Amino acid sequence: MKTIGIIGGMSWESSVLYYQAINRGVAESLGGLHSASLILYSVDFADIERLQHEGDWEAAGSLLNEAALALQAAGADFLVIATNTMHKVADSIVDGIDIPLLHIVDPTAEALLAAGHRRVGLLGTAFTMSDDFYKGRMQETFGLDVIVPDDSEQAQVHRIIYEELCLGIIEDASREVYTRIIDGLLARGAQAVILGCTEITLLINQAHTPAPLFDTTALHAAAAVSRALGHD
Ligand code: GLU
Repeated sequence: MKTIGIIGGMSWESSVLYYQAINRGVAESLGGLHSASLILYSVDFADIERLQHEGDWEAAGSLLNEAALALQAAGADFLVIATNTMHKVADSIVDGIDIPLLHIVDPTAEALLAAGHRRVGLLGTAFTMSDDFYKGRMQETFGLDVIVPDDSEQAQVHRIIYEELCLGIIEDASREVYTRIIDGLLARGAQAVILGCTEITLLINQAHTPAPLFDTTALHAAAAVSRALGHD
């Protein structure tokens, strides 16, 4: 089994989900007491969040590059960045790294295509929804047509992520905001919705909406298990 190197802590509320899903996935595949071989480098999210909102992506990237180098030196066979947003600086994070990065967009896009979806809605931080690093890879590499909420809805989705979900706060009122925004994406022709932030699954699941949901946390963790076990 390969050793997974996880850059996490963004937030730790979602890193917990990765840890659980990856270990469960390995146990389901190998049975018995099998669990994952993994190394988790968990950062202080306050530092990352400050740099994000100051727009200092270069500093955030080099901070996470240190984590990547440490994971490589510690024996990780490949890397997982356990947040959608920080894939914005994926190239800086893997600077000087020889082991592969399992990009979060790839298993998500592959699952959407396998399910026959072409036009998809995206929920995530404002960085993920408005910037091109995420939608661009979905569109250019996989041919998906990605639509996002309008600016005021993006602000609501973003606020709930940072002020609630990353702090482990789950509010019914916020779930209603998300389901209303998802309804809007469906009305605009989305065939499915990407939960493109690794904490959104704490708030919304398939029981809350008729929209087929594609949870990046679960899909990314499952892809890490496949790669660790040599099934990909
Ligand atoms: N975990 C979130 C994501 O998947 C947001 C936190 C962050 O900014 O990294 O984008």
